Amino acid sequence: MSLVDELYKEVILDHYRHPRNRGTLADATLVVQGSNPLCGDEIELGLRLAGDRIEAVAFTGRGCSISQASASMMTEVIKGRTLAEAAAILETFKGVMLRNEPAERLEDLGDLEALQGVKRFPVRIKCAILAWNTLQEALTLVRERLDQG
Ligand code: ZN
Repeated sequence: MSLVDELYKEVILDHYRHPRNRGTLADATLVVQGSNPLCGDEIELGLRLAGDRIEAVAFTGRGCSISQASASMMTEVIKGRTLAEAAAILETFKGVMLRNEPAERLEDLGDLEALQGVKRFPVRIKCAILAWNTLQEALTLVRERLDQG
């Protein structure tokens, strides 16, 4: 394994062992669940919104290290962002993981860069994407609520 791979592996394991923003929000604006049956990964994501800003975010879940580390990294990156900013980050991450866009795009997004190596293992991409699909569902629900007034 190269030094960079080794470093990325350490970052992933650190998030897995010490997940950031793990727990539930008593005053969540919405809570969304997601699962990846292929691997048995599960995520429950809670968001608290203040206007269009993600004021607080928390997750619980179980599954492989990649799925849980990705959720932990995601919560760090979207906390405090607007819904539009979170949607843009989501697109960037999916672009790199699913559409082979350059990994450099993840450089300014906290520890997300560490997940780029997962692309070499196509079956694990679903693990890395799970939290983000769950976020996407949450953003869609928020948009629907806003549309309804
Ligand atoms: Zn998994």
